[in-house]
Amino acid sequence: MKTNPIVGQGTSLHQWQASRHLAELDSIDILSLVPPGARAVIVAPHPDDEVLGCGGLLQLLAEAGRPLQLMSVTDGSASHPGSSRWPVERLSVVRPQESAEALRRLGLPMHRVKWLRGGFSDTQVAAQEAELVDFIERHLRPDDVLFTTWSEDGHCDHEAVGRASVEAARRVGATCHELPVWTWHWATPEDAFVPWQRARKILLTPAQVARKRHAVHAFASQLEGDPDAGLGPVLAPYVLDRLLQPFEVVFL
Ligand SMILES: [Zn+2]
Repeated sequence: MKTNPIVGQGTSLHQWQASRHLAELDSIDILSLVPPGARAVIVAPHPDDEVLGCGGLLQLLAEAGRPLQLMSVTDGSASHPGSSRWPVERLSVVRPQESAEALRRLGLPMHRVKWLRGGFSDTQVAAQEAELVDFIERHLRPDDVLFTTWSEDGHCDHEAVGRASVEAARRVGATCHELPVWTWHWATPEDAFVPWQRARKILLTPAQVARKRHAVHAFASQLEGDPDAGLGPVLAPYVLDRLLQPFEVVFL
């Protein structure tokens, strides 16, 4: 079961660094997961998940010249409920701009990154899941390799997007790999609920982690809370620490 909901500080980087499961994970070459001729399709619930979950593997795929297709399911405009500093109208404009800047900071050749915006409602994706499956399916080819959030990631949108991506990929015969994002918060390191047996590490160089860190700092709205509305930052330092390890994890 999911041990910690997404409140408080969750499991610390230090605890993850002491994890036997994580230490024993095999690594895999991302270029074997996305072979020559295949396209990588990143399905991100919110503008920032593509960088938090897979900003490293995106760099590796871009360096190898693999075509990249990003699908942003929502505009992330519900991240600051009740905030007059970050109202929905402002977030709906700013968050996609932050994603564009973050992808630029990753060093991706932007002319080769295709970007689709789904226009689904932030926090309400599960209610539109059938439509989302159709949307993703319409834009897939059988030789695509999808990367999306884990369907048990602990955030309702992440889970709905994970389920919808798996189903859309199944319909067209494409491959889909899920990635943990909020799992690093609520899971405990030896958590039997996490499918460690199908988890693999994608190893990153210090330069790739540095570019990912630089990219993450493009998400100003997520690094800032709104004290007047009682909101802390979504991406607090202890959250970023967990997501800036020298590897990313994919579930096969
Ligand atoms: Zn998200």
